[in-house]
Amino acid sequence: MPDEAILRLQAGNLRFAAGQSTADQSPERRIAIAPGQHPFATIFSCVDSRVSPELIFDQGLGDLFVIRTAGQVLDRAVLGSLEFCVVEMGIRVLVVLGHEHCGAVKAAMDALATEEAAPAEIEYLVEGLAQAVEQGRQLGGDVWNDAGRAQVQLVVARLETVPIMRRAIDAGQLAIVGAWYDLDTGRVELLTHRVRTDSPPKDCQSYEEITHA
Ligand SMILES: [Zn+2]
Repeated sequence: MPDEAILRLQAGNLRFAAGQSTADQSPERRIAIAPGQHPFATIFSCVDSRVSPELIFDQGLGDLFVIRTAGQVLDRAVLGSLEFCVVEMGIRVLVVLGHEHCGAVKAAMDALATEEAAPAEIEYLVEGLAQAVEQGRQLGGDVWNDAGRAQVQLVVARLETVPIMRRAIDAGQLAIVGAWYDLDTGRVELLTHRVRTDSPPKDCQSYEEITHA
C-alpha cells in the first residue's frame, strides 16, 4: 500500500534526523539481494550532495529506486525511468523531494534575472525551473525556498498527468508525494499528501510521532 511505504520512509527519516540510522549495507544484505531487487519506493530528488535519499531516509541496499537531476528537472529519460519503476518494478510510492537552499534553483533565479542564456545545457535546467521561479517571486517572500517548493508541486502535478501514473493512482496502487528536506534539521516534510492513520505498519515504532507531529 502507498501509505505504508510513506510511513516507512518517514520512520527512516526520523532515525536519520536523530542520528540513529540503522540502514543495512552489510555484505550479507548485498549477497541476499544480488539475485533480484525489490525496492519499496522511488525517490526523485536533486543532485545536491547533502540530500542523498538512502541516507536521509535511512534505507539500505536495494530499498530505494533513486533518480536525481539538478532541481528535479524532468526530461524524457527521467519520465521513462519513473514509468519503468511503476510498471516494471511495481513501485507504490514516488516521492518528489526538493530541499532548502537548492543551488540549481538559485542558479536559475540568477540566470533569469540577467535575461542572458546560461552556458550550454545548463540553460535546459534554467528553462525547467523558470515556472517555479516565477511562482516563487509572485509569493513575495523567501523567493529562493518558495521557488524550490513550487518546483516540487509543479513536478508532482506534471507526473500526475502522465497516463501510466494516472491509471495507477486511480487504481489506488500509486501515490505521488511532494516532499521538502530541511538541511538543518534533517527532517523531511510532506507537502502534498496526507497519510491515512488507520493501518500503521507493524515495524514502524515511530508511528505515533509521525502521525501526531
Ligand atoms: Zn538542489
